[in-house]
Amino acid sequence: MSDLADLYQQVILDHNRRPRNRGKLPTANRVAHGDNPTCGDQCSVYLRLDGDRIGEITFDGSGCAISQASASLMTTQLKGKSAAEAEKLYQQFHEIVTTGNAPEEISDIGAFAGVHAFPARIKCATLGWHAALNALKGDPIPATTETHKD
Ligand code: ZN
Repeated sequence: MSDLADLYQQVILDHNRRPRNRGKLPTANRVAHGDNPTCGDQCSVYLRLDGDRIGEITFDGSGCAISQASASLMTTQLKGKSAAEAEKLYQQFHEIVTTGNAPEEISDIGAFAGVHAFPARIKCATLGWHAALNALKGDPIPATTETHKD
């Protein structure tokens, strides 16, 4: 099996062609930006926490196929999750991209197992996830801006 074919699995190609949950989220109460200068990838994650659950989550950015597909997949995985569950999923994802070992039951994020053969791309794959976790840990965005009066 060729490493490159392994890297660009169908799931990755599909998310790259048809990104899910892409664009700003007007109702977001958390936001964080991720930057991967070694590859030139950018990713912002917008999410709305409803209580302790992620009610809505979107991303916006530009960069390589791996970074954008990973961010797209991340949004589909984290919607509805609590911060603790999101952290746990990220640990699983990180394990997969650094070791290449993907358990059978982890179908979609397992598509990123091929990334482990390209260590420089691990940062591409984790960029969106880092931004999401930072958004979860960050301060809420104020619902109204009181400092800006025209
Ligand atoms: Zn990249």
